[in-house]
Amino acid sequence: MRAFTCGNCHRLVPFESHACLHCGAEHGFDWDARELIAFRAGERQRCSEAVPAACNAVVAAGQGACRVCALTRTRPADSDTTGLARFAEAEAAKRRLVFELAELGLPTGGGLAFDMLSSEHEPVTTGHADGVVTIDLAEVDDSHREAIRAQMAEPYRTVLGHLRHEIGHYYQPIVVTDWDACRALFGDEREDYQRAMDRHYEHGAPGDWPERFVSAYATMHPWEDWAESFAHYLHIADTLQTALAYGVRVDGPPGVEPAAVGDDEFGILIGNWLPLTYALNALNRSMGAEDLYPFVLTAPVIEKLGFVHHAVVGNSKH
Ligand SMILES: [Zn+2]
Ligand SMILES: [Zn+2]
Ligand SMILES: [Zn+2]
Repeated sequence: MRAFTCGNCHRLVPFESHACLHCGAEHGFDWDARELIAFRAGERQRCSEAVPAACNAVVAAGQGACRVCALTRTRPADSDTTGLARFAEAEAAKRRLVFELAELGLPTGGGLAFDMLSSEHEPVTTGHADGVVTIDLAEVDDSHREAIRAQMAEPYRTVLGHLRHEIGHYYQPIVVTDWDACRALFGDEREDYQRAMDRHYEHGAPGDWPERFVSAYATMHPWEDWAESFAHYLHIADTLQTALAYGVRVDGPPGVEPAAVGDDEFGILIGNWLPLTYALNALNRSMGAEDLYPFVLTAPVIEKLGFVHHAVVGNSKH
């Protein structure tokens, strides 16, 4: 994420901001320019989902929903206050996702849609099918999500992470051009999915998974390995952009030998990423918190991330 400033007083304001915390000037997000802009009623107006989605987009006069809200096909009814409060939080994560996709030059037209549903009312499975990403809004609830995270022994579980994973399924057939190379790294995605899922939930991940996979879930099926790797690439790309925006660059503690990485664009990215993660984890430990980045990137995992990087860059519409 880039850093944004108030158009009036030039002090730092968050991406989610509707009005400046310092001078009170009203502003909103212009998705064409991907900038926070001063907002004058008349020529422009707020997105029609400003209240339910807590959306800060500014659109042309007469336009309804902004392009990001318009991607959501289904949301809780106006009478469902719990569902709507969770919906607004899920939409905030979705805006962060869509911002990054735009920064990476990935297309968000072509039938991509989101269903934001509450499993309190009907069975809901977070997932992706035919361009539709479904999010169970119960995952917004911290105690619910943390209970599942602990039960599944996952080191990391967030709504933004779910969005990044599911959108990975959407992009795989769009960005992958060399399927032989893809299968060589992630396995053959034509493997029977139901059988793979049954095996995973009966036997769990193989004991040596950390050597070859970014997560235990990635071992289930080649589709899931791709989606987990794609989500992880989005974690890295966004967090590195944020670090750069704030002038954070970590070279590691003096005297420590840096990890050996390639000298191409992706090698430089990983070379910047690893020392940053060591510092972020050390900072969190200093605050008595869990590691911010509870992952270990082995050489085979880095190779998969490199494949995702080249697939994304190759399809970038900049
Ligand atoms: Zn201001
Ligand atoms: Zn909107
Ligand atoms: Zn998946």
